[in-house]
Amino acid sequence: MEYGFVDCHCHISAHEFEEDLEDVIHRTKEAGVKTLVAVTEEVGEFTRVLQLQESYPDLVAPCFGIHPLQGGGGSERHSVKPEDLDVALPLFYKHSERLVALGEIGLDFTPWCAPTQRERDDQMSVFIKQLSVAKELGLPVNIHSRSAARVTIATLKEQGVHRALLHNFAGKPSIALEGVKAGYFFSFPPAVCRNQQRDKLIKQIPLEHICLETDSPALGLDKDARNEPSNIGLSCRYIADVKGLSQQTVRLVTAQNAYRLFPKAGRG
Ligand SMILES: [Zn+2]
Repeated sequence: MEYGFVDCHCHISAHEFEEDLEDVIHRTKEAGVKTLVAVTEEVGEFTRVLQLQESYPDLVAPCFGIHPLQGGGGSERHSVKPEDLDVALPLFYKHSERLVALGEIGLDFTPWCAPTQRERDDQMSVFIKQLSVAKELGLPVNIHSRSAARVTIATLKEQGVHRALLHNFAGKPSIALEGVKAGYFFSFPPAVCRNQQRDKLIKQIPLEHICLETDSPALGLDKDARNEPSNIGLSCRYIADVKGLSQQTVRLVTAQNAYRLFPKAGRG
């Protein structure tokens, strides 16, 4: 079977794409992207991501999730609170048939985001609750982990999660390999091409546990420019170079991994 790219973690429902979405989707398809695993961060995006699936049913594979940081990208950003789940959880159940995963969920212990233990505890309880719903619904999870690599992997294992993607993971290789042992996948956006910081990690994680992502509109090659799914080839090429493999191999194996992890996304 002919595989294209699978963007395993992107924010196509973000307002950055509202104005010229048609063009973005056109470029996405031109670049050979077959599936967009479309994560959400806040309950306000849920309707939009379902609408996008209706508009582009062969392309958009929606996920619902409550991110550890809420309030958009600006100065309003704050650590999640348990009550942020009140409206979201019933929607997880209501639309579970249409979801390919829960995400973007996880832990962000960057000091300025979660300065106190109270905030970290709240993030943990929101994370665990969503993991338990994912298990109940039989869905994989699309995970954010920043300054919390060890505790994120440990929590996934403790909670008995078997199917997880750790997006833009930046922890130590030894911690990532714990996740590999548990069967988890790791995806890398074009931003990894900016420098060699992630090379060791990419080298040590077996290709059978790697997926591609863009995290559009963030994490592109150029920090200040909007990223979009058509840039996914940059991740593919970088991983191929670091691992000494052909780009074709990386594209094929990462797509197979993606459909194995997210079978409802289309080609499992
Ligand atoms: Zn993201």
